[in-house]
Amino acid sequence: MTISENLQYIHSQLPDGVQLIAVSKTKGVDVIREAYDSGQRHFGENKVQELLAKYQQLPDDVHWHFIGHLQTNKVSQIAPFISLIHGVDSLKLLRVINREAERCNRIIPVLLEFHIAKEESKFGLSWEAAEEMLKNPETFQMRNVLISGVMGMATFTEEQEIVRSEFEQLAIYFRTLKEQYFQGQQHFCEISMGMSDDFPIAVQSGSTMVRIGGKIFGSR
Ligand SMILES: *Cc1c(COP(=O)(O)O)cnc(C)c1O
Repeated sequence: MTISENLQYIHSQLPDGVQLIAVSKTKGVDVIREAYDSGQRHFGENKVQELLAKYQQLPDDVHWHFIGHLQTNKVSQIAPFISLIHGVDSLKLLRVINREAERCNRIIPVLLEFHIAKEESKFGLSWEAAEEMLKNPETFQMRNVLISGVMGMATFTEEQEIVRSEFEQLAIYFRTLKEQYFQGQQHFCEISMGMSDDFPIAVQSGSTMVRIGGKIFGSR
């Protein structure tokens, strides 16, 4: 299967309105260009240096998504062009993104990352930590970030019911946050969940953005 055929197949599995982020981490520019030439415009990367190199070599109308863990000391390098930062899990990081966005006169959309999987991870907010962040008045005083939704990763398991319940939990978090903190704010609308192996379940659970690498580009 070619990249173009893979993209076509995935699109045929996605309802209207669900956005496909092609996760191009570890893949070369030639391969990304093949996807670009098939019409793909949204790409996801998880390493700042790698993203910068690719950003410089690919056309200006690519929308770059940062999907990994972002260190505060690297934010300034991607702030001028990044379309969406998926993995915000602390007030400290949000503050730095806001400051760097202000420096380049931008408003950067971000997603709050939740820890929904059973696996141990240093990354992602608990519900309690998210509430603490959103109850802090500073969060809504920031003028150069736009909190646009939530993101999460399910447990790496064959057991579909575990994956489904985690995605459903993230969708509940989204709806609860919308009600409590973002009522009437149309920009708070994204649920970024679903990867190569679990995106059909994510879509059934309400995903608005799937992040897919292997199923497009082949395994890493
Ligand atoms: C690598 C990665 C993906 C894509 O994973 P695939 O299994 O290759 O589809 C999605 N989201 C994040 C955060 C990733 O790091």
